[in-house]
Amino acid sequence: MKYVAYRLDGRDLLGAVSADEKMLVPLREQAAAPGTTLLRLIEGGAHELADSGTAVRIDDPDLKLLPPIPSTGRNVFCVGKNYRAHVEELDRTDFVPPRDEQFPDAPIYFTKLSASAVTHGGAVLAHSGVTDSVDYEAEIGVIISAGGRGIAAEDAWDHVWGFTLVNDVTARDLQRGRGQWFLGKSLDTFCAVGPWAVSIDEVDVPNVVLESWVNGEPRQKGHLSDLVFDVPTLIADLSSGITLQTGDIIATGTPSGVGLGFDPPRFLRPGDVVRVAATGLGVLENHVVA
Ligand code: MG
Repeated sequence: MKYVAYRLDGRDLLGAVSADEKMLVPLREQAAAPGTTLLRLIEGGAHELADSGTAVRIDDPDLKLLPPIPSTGRNVFCVGKNYRAHVEELDRTDFVPPRDEQFPDAPIYFTKLSASAVTHGGAVLAHSGVTDSVDYEAEIGVIISAGGRGIAAEDAWDHVWGFTLVNDVTARDLQRGRGQWFLGKSLDTFCAVGPWAVSIDEVDVPNVVLESWVNGEPRQKGHLSDLVFDVPTLIADLSSGITLQTGDIIATGTPSGVGLGFDPPRFLRPGDVVRVAATGLGVLENHVVA
């Protein structure tokens, strides 16, 4: 099932998306906020739908989509340099210093503030005066079901509830030379997530294709199966010393074709529209504003 978080008539709610992705039916049991309801749903509760007569058009102008992020208060876990072609495109720039090892021999992690989240249709701020190199990174976000510490790789898929799309928006100048990536990755609105939270039974995992476009021009294309460190490896590695929690999201890295990879770089400007899509996970589109 696909689930959507939304605000309607002053209430923040969670609904199930119809097969044609045009309608939603609210869940019968709703908590104070959609993220709380989504968390309950992932925990195994709050799954009954209200009567079909309560269905609402998703494009209802009175309906505002919200990020489908479970209310855990946790940052979004992120993985850097996890598609080979993306590592290679970064190495062709002067963004990373020359080094002997082209590919990381262990996953590179950072986090994004979930408080910086926007969803499909939301504006990404250009933050002029703070950065002049805003970039896009289309990613598959894995949503954790039962958490735990010391999860074995062979058991990892049993700990995945489903997926969502992430645009890991990045200020390249703030990412570079600061000794960490958190700042450049967590400016307000830089965590685009959505449009749906999709349960794993809906997703043909081995055949998920991830793509992005800027102003309609194709930029990125990769397969979830192309990851340098695959989902079980990431879950086992992260959980070896950190207890993963129900509702945690792990953004698994971006394919090649980011703006930084062009010569000269093609960073985002106010007025640009970034579209991220993946097989079965819908479309996450955001526009950049001054
Ligand atoms: Mg990224």
